Amino acid sequence: MFEKLLNEIEESDMVLVGIGEEASLPFDFNETHDRQFWKQYHDSYDEEENSKIISFYNAMEQALSGKNYFIITTNVDGLIHQSKINPIRVAAPCGNMYKAQCHCPENDGIMDMPEDFWKKDEEIKCPKCNTSLEPNVFNKNYYNESGYLKQWNLYHKWLQGTLNKKLLVMEIGCDFSMMSLIRLPFEKIVMINQKAVFYRINQRFPQITAELKDRMISIQENPFAFADKLWETKKSR
Ligand SMILES: [Zn+2]
Repeated sequence: MFEKLLNEIEESDMVLVGIGEEASLPFDFNETHDRQFWKQYHDSYDEEENSKIISFYNAMEQALSGKNYFIITTNVDGLIHQSKINPIRVAAPCGNMYKAQCHCPENDGIMDMPEDFWKKDEEIKCPKCNTSLEPNVFNKNYYNESGYLKQWNLYHKWLQGTLNKKLLVMEIGCDFSMMSLIRLPFEKIVMINQKAVFYRINQRFPQITAELKDRMISIQENPFAFADKLWETKKSR
């Protein structure tokens, strides 16, 4: 299985990777999250959890090194940016909790999250618009999309370049909460591109889509075990 996938990686012109919930700690986009939630969520990423997730991204980077790849992630833990993966190859449309947003327009409303946000109780206000800083993460009240739009536009340009190319699609740990961002569009991309192959890696929902059964392979693994085995197999070649 992993030998076959490594051959697919080698032979592909381009590799599209989607990374979802199984590679992060549980996060509910349907809830509104207050400061207390965010502090607890942040603290639940202890050193062990962080290094497990960062190692996963580093293993993926090593497995894909030299390839023309692009990664979409719905995860908001921002840990992909602490790995060796080149940020120019990443779009995170649901945001990044290590970036802060206020209500200043567009890019002015996005900044690095001050460390005090996680440690202290008092609100941190933007000196210009006077709103309290909060993580730049998708939510129903207010979401400053300029945090991800540049990379999202780059992704769509990259995607146009996959037409008629031998495209390998790897969907890793994507469940159904944000399926309009990865699961559904990735299936459509593979349906349209007859040269594309789809690997669905998922511990809980590895089901194959009937229309794609000839070009779809299912691997029932969690992202961490999957990336370990992939990188180990590559090293042993
Ligand atoms: Zn502001």
